[in-house]
Amino acid sequence: MSDTQFRMLDGMVTVLPAQTLEAFRGALRGPLCLPGEAGYEEARTIWNAMIDKRPAAVVRAAGASDVIQTVRLAARHGLLLSVRGGGHNIAGNAVCEGGLMLDLSRLTSVRVDPQARLARVEPGARLADLDRETQAFGLATPVGINSTTGIAGLTLGGGFGWISRKHGLTVDNLLSADVVTADGELVRASAAENPDLFWAIRGGGGNFGVATSFEFALHPVGPQVIAGLIVHPFAAARDVLREYRELVAKAPDELCCWVVMRKAPPLPFLPPEVHGTEVLVLALCYAGDLAAGAEAAAPFKAIGSPIADVVGPMPFAAWQAAFDPLLTPGARNYWKSHDFVDLPDPLIDTLLDAVRRLPSPECEIFIGSLGGAINRVPAGATAYPHRNVNFVMNVHTRWRAASEDGPCIAWTRVLYEAAAPFATGGVYVNFMPEDESQRVQAGAYGPNYARLARLKAKFDPRNLFRMNQNVTPA
Ligand SMILES: Cc1cc2nc3c(=O)[nH]c(=O)nc-3n(C[C@H](O)[C@H](O)[C@H](O)COP(=O)(O)OP(=O)(O)OC[C@H]3O[C@@H](n4cnc5c(N)ncnc54)[C@H](O)[C@@H]3O)c2cc1C
Repeated sequence: MSDTQFRMLDGMVTVLPAQTLEAFRGALRGPLCLPGEAGYEEARTIWNAMIDKRPAAVVRAAGASDVIQTVRLAARHGLLLSVRGGGHNIAGNAVCEGGLMLDLSRLTSVRVDPQARLARVEPGARLADLDRETQAFGLATPVGINSTTGIAGLTLGGGFGWISRKHGLTVDNLLSADVVTADGELVRASAAENPDLFWAIRGGGGNFGVATSFEFALHPVGPQVIAGLIVHPFAAARDVLREYRELVAKAPDELCCWVVMRKAPPLPFLPPEVHGTEVLVLALCYAGDLAAGAEAAAPFKAIGSPIADVVGPMPFAAWQAAFDPLLTPGARNYWKSHDFVDLPDPLIDTLLDAVRRLPSPECEIFIGSLGGAINRVPAGATAYPHRNVNFVMNVHTRWRAASEDGPCIAWTRVLYEAAAPFATGGVYVNFMPEDESQRVQAGAYGPNYARLARLKAKFDPRNLFRMNQNVTPA
């Protein structure tokens, strides 16, 4: 091993002598990977192919001890540090250019206690890992809709998916976490221990330390649920959306129905002539009894004249992975997101106008439905503040060739600006791209930002954990 140059927190560079790195490598359980070494490319490659950064070195942690030593090394030498969980975040902050990358993706253990209805989860676990272990006992905790997403980043930002209207955000089900803070100490954060830190990590992202273990409350769900897709022709989209918003407003908490507008992929249940044409999809899941689910789904199935309706009983774990084939890693991605309280007609028209001009076959506009249990938690109870939001728009712009970057990003920004007059001004931190640092204070955290900034000053005054949607220490 030779002397190695690292990017520092202040933007300067420093050189760590070979013997310092050798000693560090010898103290780790997991591998330390330098450019060209086995594991380096795998660790730095993340979901969004737009992100192509080259850290000076990567620690592929094998446990909390490796995390502690990595944080201490970075703190001692003032090294730029990034932390990777599942590597799914659109902004790509899991990887840093020229700094030290801490890769947690090999820590995937999930231990379920079915009697106590608890899961203890390591920070490299994917949502599929958690669902498979919990569903073995007919249990679940609310997480996102793409099963390859990492539990760590999702949880630290808030986390919502198909059963959140019934059971709340992922952070509303977080009971405790082990966290390595900026001074390299491992502490427990829960309602009883370090409650300030516990408040901050429930939405404050990676700003406050490295989570090495999460403990979640579980609920009976499935293993079979009523779920599936209802596909409508785009010509009917305006009428469908107007009926949809009325039905969602009076739906039980168990029922969650999201909207996806895109060009139809070649799904086997769609006639070939529909493939590649614009469609509106209602994606629905009922977190409860099958008979009650069928009854609650009936009004949604009765909307308009769908091209296809494949809502019915299915394994919850399978439904949790239903969108995986459309959200595979390796594409170029750019996202923009708004929160809405309702979906007025002019907003619907704005969205439909954008769908008519989709810049690539893989682009989609998602409208997620929130509310229910999420909104019964006070905005100040966790760092995640958006407890009045009923709909979240996420524009998933997705394409393959770098030559298409310009038109695809431009289309996204035009839609974002056009929809802004109808939005709350808030934004879910986990849906923000890397160029949105100006939205962190007012948009991502709003009324909770001042407290987050004070806690950042307490737990990370030097801003060691800055590769994230960053909270500036007060
Ligand atoms: C296709 C797709 C679908 C999605 N669907 C949903 C959804 O339905 N619901 C939802 O809520 N979100 C969803 N998301 C957003 C998702 O929650 C975020 O992308 C999240 O950050 C992913 O977590 P990760 O661990 O995979 O990400 P990473 O990129 O590994 O990490 C993101 C950031 O989190 C921090 N971080 C990661 N691990 C740790 C740790 N252990 N300790 C401290 N900080 C850490 C770091 O700052 C890092 O930069 C989706 C994302 C994608 C790409």
